[in-house]
Amino acid sequence: MASPWDDDILDKEFKILTPLGVGTFREVKLACHIPTKTQVAVKILRKKSNTVDEMNSEVKILQTLEHSNIIHFFHVIDTQSKTYLIMEYVAGKDLQMFLSEVGCLKEQEARPIFQQVVSAVHFLHQRRIAHRDIKLENILIDEDGNVKLCDFGLAIHLAKRQMLKKVCGSLHYMAPEMLARKPYDGLAVDMWSLGVLLYVMVTGQFPYTEDTLHGMHRLITKTRYPIPFDLSKPCFVIIARLLTVPTNRRITVSQLVKRPWLGTIKKHTAPTTKEILPRLVETMCTMGYNLEDIFSSLRYRQPNEVTATFNILKHKLWCEISFQQTEHLCLKSSHIDAHHPLFSLKRRASEPALASKREAGKRQSKEEGVEGRHKKCQSLIKLNKYSCLELNPCSDVTVPEGDVMMANVIKCATGDIGDNMNSLDSSPGDLSLSEPPLDGRPTLFLNMDFSTQKLSLEPNIPNDQPQIGSTTSASRPFTGWKRMRKRISHVLGALLICGMPIPD
Ligand code: ADP
Ligand code: MG
Repeated sequence: MASPWDDDILDKEFKILTPLGVGTFREVKLACHIPTKTQVAVKILRKKSNTVDEMNSEVKILQTLEHSNIIHFFHVIDTQSKTYLIMEYVAGKDLQMFLSEVGCLKEQEARPIFQQVVSAVHFLHQRRIAHRDIKLENILIDEDGNVKLCDFGLAIHLAKRQMLKKVCGSLHYMAPEMLARKPYDGLAVDMWSLGVLLYVMVTGQFPYTEDTLHGMHRLITKTRYPIPFDLSKPCFVIIARLLTVPTNRRITVSQLVKRPWLGTIKKHTAPTTKEILPRLVETMCTMGYNLEDIFSSLRYRQPNEVTATFNILKHKLWCEISFQQTEHLCLKSSHIDAHHPLFSLKRRASEPALASKREAGKRQSKEEGVEGRHKKCQSLIKLNKYSCLELNPCSDVTVPEGDVMMANVIKCATGDIGDNMNSLDSSPGDLSLSEPPLDGRPTLFLNMDFSTQKLSLEPNIPNDQPQIGSTTSASRPFTGWKRMRKRISHVLGALLICGMPIPD
């Protein structure tokens, strides 16, 4: 049982909301990160039931990964009895829940999902990380069809040519060499699991089912999984190459990404911390964090609440930027998006399914023409799906009066332009700049920068949204802020000179 001390530490910064998933030894809960009003997932690892090695491995590996198809790690809180892993929250379902609603998928529906899983596994294997638990339940999918691989509880960083012995994962996804308890290559067992995953997605069944390791091994080595007659040859070939018993003939992930059936795998691009560091530090200063605390937390990688806020804001900014880029591409090639195979999933799901919002948006866009489409895009950008301000269970997390400015900053940071304009007019500490920002661009203060960037993405489309001028409130200079900016600039310089301690 948790001691009150355990809960106190977590409760300082987080408000636990509802359960998301419960395992035998771990539970995952939805929570609200109070300082940034962001929804996060908290994985609770009980120390009695999970070995220190297992917990450390999950935290250590997740900490080093930054990929759009891998669940994003924010923070870890370690107490006497539990370890709390704070992660990005995926508002959607895991693939198991999703498939149980829709049955199996058509190949063109499975492809974008599998593509994203492969992209994540490619990223891991390039770094010699084996996941060892690739399965439906560990793949999360949001309402826009974005896929995230989660659960790094069994993941392991491999030395060159390192072979493993531990039999782990789920029986149905286990490679034959693991079932035979032979020393195995962690990367090759992931490839087998990928084969099982694709097979389940397109057929709705497991290729092999038995109740024991021995039984599964016998079945795999003595029989052949059934091949549905309507499976296309390229898809079948991928499954066959993945579900190949001799490991030296099994396809590797770098060969898999080149298979034409998979199509073009989106290149993973994340902004470097260096690029967005000034904006993040400025935001945190306006939220009331002490500059020296920010500096030392980042410099010495301290796992404290300052770093947690930094990581969460950084992720929000990253999501915002990639969301804007996706929307920009949607506008440029809306016909492609409108026929995105995931859109058809809704018809077979019992609940509003993936991409339904976007589909409705696109349909409306067609009717409204370019201008209407632009308006729609603007309002989509303002949508902040990560914010938990509207969540009822969190409604008692009120913003203290003195923190109105901070709330505005967070809203701005998530692109809420309309609200932010009001805040510019009324906020007691006006933050708009009458001097150029740190990087010398003639823009607004930090958070406004996000909207400026967004508008510049769509040069050919008339913008009917009110424009915010850089001198909106120049008549009310905020001299304290000017001084603060100089200090920030100084500290940033020092951080960069130190060789960017934070991973990019
Ligand atoms: P376990 O080690 O117990 O399997 P997981 O990390 O796989 O723990 O999480 C269990 C379940 O919780 C997942 O199958 C998924 O349904 C849900 N879940 C986990 N992480 C998240 C997240 N970041 N966002 C939303 N749901 C999640
Ligand atoms: Mg799991």
